[in-house]
Amino acid sequence: MAHDHLNLTRGALKTANPATDAVVLVESQRMIEGRNWHPARLFFLISSARHFVAELETKGFTVRYLQAPTTVDGLDAARAEFGPLPVVAAEASSHRQLAQLSAYGVTWVENDLFLTSRRHFGMWAETQKTFVMENFYRAQRVRLGLLVENGKPAGGSWNYDADNRLPPPKHYSWPERLVHQQDDLDRAVAERFGYQLDGTWATTREGALAQLDYFVEHHLAGFGPYEDAITSEDWSLHHSLLSPYLNNGLLHADEVIKPVIRAYAEGKAPIASVEAFVRQVIGWREYINGMYWYLGEGYREGNGLNATGALPPVFNDSTKTKMRCVQQVVADVEARAWTHHIPRLMVLSNLALITGTNPQAFLDWMREQFIDASEWVMVPNVIGMATHADGGKLMTKPYAAGGAYLNRMTIHCKSCAYDPKLRVGDNACPFSTLYWDFLARHQEAFAKNHRMQQQLQGLKRLTDLPELRVRAREVLDGLAAGTI
Ligand code: SF4
Repeated sequence: MAHDHLNLTRGALKTANPATDAVVLVESQRMIEGRNWHPARLFFLISSARHFVAELETKGFTVRYLQAPTTVDGLDAARAEFGPLPVVAAEASSHRQLAQLSAYGVTWVENDLFLTSRRHFGMWAETQKTFVMENFYRAQRVRLGLLVENGKPAGGSWNYDADNRLPPPKHYSWPERLVHQQDDLDRAVAERFGYQLDGTWATTREGALAQLDYFVEHHLAGFGPYEDAITSEDWSLHHSLLSPYLNNGLLHADEVIKPVIRAYAEGKAPIASVEAFVRQVIGWREYINGMYWYLGEGYREGNGLNATGALPPVFNDSTKTKMRCVQQVVADVEARAWTHHIPRLMVLSNLALITGTNPQAFLDWMREQFIDASEWVMVPNVIGMATHADGGKLMTKPYAAGGAYLNRMTIHCKSCAYDPKLRVGDNACPFSTLYWDFLARHQEAFAKNHRMQQQLQGLKRLTDLPELRVRAREVLDGLAAGTI
């Protein structure tokens, strides 16, 4: 079984019998050493798997946790011990692993760690002219019977974004986060990967369930309004911090949704917060996984805007910029391999997009640096949503934004070396300069996109475009040198 299928009631383990089946987990040296993984990610995945092995053993399973040069070498070692028995696993989570292990002869059972099978999603996608997530999400609500009353959305609306998306609040007390206890196994794995334990991440199902309870009790009600805000006063705001456990199997989407909907039914959380959370789990998460499989392996290599720039050094060192927002978000990633979806999309991805950074270079970085960055998550998110490298298959327009948006949604501009209201000159916000430069570079590509017309009209009205484009070159050079 894979390190992201750590669930006794799903996948191949659902029908496994301790009397007749052996469970094998392979820790592939090639996987661990092949990339510049964040120590938190390695710690989390490996320690969770080791704890899961211990749990399986207490249930009477024969388990082997094998460290081998590659997954196939590990499976060969298991076969040498147990004989040529059939190898059964839940469908692999990446195209590459699915192909590799299919060639090895693995028998697949459906990957039911999601609410939507790959086949079901494919059937939905085949009926769509465009793959609008909101349409998928509404169909999910009806199919799964969640927050739907007599065929109508609970509270009267399918989407409460208009009530949410508030800027960071002033004079607000963020509730404390749950600090997880860590054991000797955690300490040993953390030491192996050079990770400083701080209790942020649990590595057991018990800890993951405690995180879920804590979120529902202390954060769910406030989740919606501030889900898009960015502040340095608190790094997780009201976000659930559940994605790592959903993505490695310790929690299932079904059990995460139930207490959230119960809280709404009991009047403990408003519909705007509950609906926003449900959308992330049954909408976005399932949609991204479905699209990853539907769009196929080649989708990963998309580069529709011909972006060839190198990854700016700030992505690997938060001190390599004077841009306060970028500095803070990268520092958060350095500290714990996590930031919420808006810093990911509107700071990191926006920067990669408008600097013309190569999508695959940015994808590699995102895969390596985030604790929850499975291949199926990051490929559609980066190629489709973040960098518009798929020619608009997922998103009808690119998520490019200048300093005005960030000034509204963050508190960073007040303490920044740059001015979000300026687009030219030495003090101009690099996001503002690069935003307009990005539009100018790609105005032909977006000319027929009706959702970009307002922005392109704005570009036409700029009287300082020649000056701005000179400044944009300076900004790109400065980012490459780590001096902007
Ligand atoms: Fe970020 Fe620009 Fe604001 Fe500075 S001024 S914090 S670079 S958005």
